[in-house]
Amino acid sequence: MTMQGPFRYRNGTLYCEQVELAAIAAGAGTPCYVYSRASILERFRAYDEALAGLPHMICYAVKANSNQAVLALLAGAGAGFDIVSGGELYRVLRAGAPACRVVFSGVGKTAEEIEYALAEGIHSFNAESEEELRLIDAIAARLGVRARVALRVNPDVPAETHPYVATGRREHKFGVEVARAPEIWRRAAALPNLALEGLSCHIGSQLLDPQPLLAAAAVMLELARTIRRAGFSVRTLDLGGGLGVAYRAEEASPDPAAFARAIREQLAREDLFLILEPGRSIVAQAGVLLTRVLYRKRTGSKEFVVVDAAMNDLIRPALYQSHHEIWPLRQSARPEIIADVVGPVCETGDYLARDRRLANALPGDLLAIATAGAYAFVAASNYNSRPRPPEVLVEGDRWRIVRARETYEDLVRGEAP
Ligand SMILES: *Cc1c(COP(=O)(O)O)cnc(C)c1O
Repeated sequence: MTMQGPFRYRNGTLYCEQVELAAIAAGAGTPCYVYSRASILERFRAYDEALAGLPHMICYAVKANSNQAVLALLAGAGAGFDIVSGGELYRVLRAGAPACRVVFSGVGKTAEEIEYALAEGIHSFNAESEEELRLIDAIAARLGVRARVALRVNPDVPAETHPYVATGRREHKFGVEVARAPEIWRRAAALPNLALEGLSCHIGSQLLDPQPLLAAAAVMLELARTIRRAGFSVRTLDLGGGLGVAYRAEEASPDPAAFARAIREQLAREDLFLILEPGRSIVAQAGVLLTRVLYRKRTGSKEFVVVDAAMNDLIRPALYQSHHEIWPLRQSARPEIIADVVGPVCETGDYLARDRRLANALPGDLLAIATAGAYAFVAASNYNSRPRPPEVLVEGDRWRIVRARETYEDLVRGEAP
């Protein structure tokens, strides 16, 4: 089995950095998310260092994993942040990041969220429509500030990915059309309380081939030139996130450093401040979800491994039919099996793997659901009144709980009988 990232077997036992995962399962219980500090930092620095010399800011997309410890770690490394809600702004500021390194994306920002972000003095908004530009202008006028804004454009390049995470075609809800962008820019430039600084795009997520991202960059550069020729200054170019990671052992992850170098070459002589918004490619492979086998059962010709993690903890398989490798915490000599790995939730869609060849795990054995650092805990719910699992951060030979397991009391907090 090819292992990626910070997870390795030593003497048949799975480790994260220098910590035995079984020790974390014993101390924190299961199910439980575990993240590697070194892996997150390494991926962030791969982007950042490849762009050294080019004016840039790597704005980590908070929605991928918004734990305070992860945000504080990245803030300390000099990251900026891409947020899509007021709640994410709160999290970022609470983690100690400066507002001036925050960009605010999203197609449905409310007046309250815009006001909050302006009052805190964020770097800029990625505005997605003329209506939003006018609303930001009006709120900025009321607060007596100038709002820095980039216009989000839909470069209309096809991106090979799951349809739910493709965002860069004309028929998607995100951004304004390239052809209409110069006209919208001209009108927005006349709004007195906006400082129109640049262009932004984000074409989709989980792109294993960076080519569409480079194609989008070319479209955006051409658009920046067009707008400059009309006499306006375009200072920033935000190319969004989207670089994918290998979820399958036989796939290869694209290299963030190589991708960043390719972008840097495209922008070498353009006099633009570059913003990238990677999320998944920074945190996905840094995390696993630990789970314990509860039961083995067989119905007809099908073999089931029933585990204590479920779709409420990790919804990606149920929502996107996504694949996560499953690693036993202790390797055994027992021959592998082909089975469905399912959780306790009362839904047929509650599975973590289907018809999968995997270790012959028996009740009590521990498994790691791989590549679970991104879009995993953040999408966890309390469905079936299951308390959400804890999150653990590993640093070298130490580990600590960075979010406690929820209790039954947490389940009813705020409810009135
Ligand atoms: C989700 C999102 C990102 C991050 O995408 P990844 O695929 O996780 O890199 C970046 N920018 C915007 C606007 C997003 O919506």
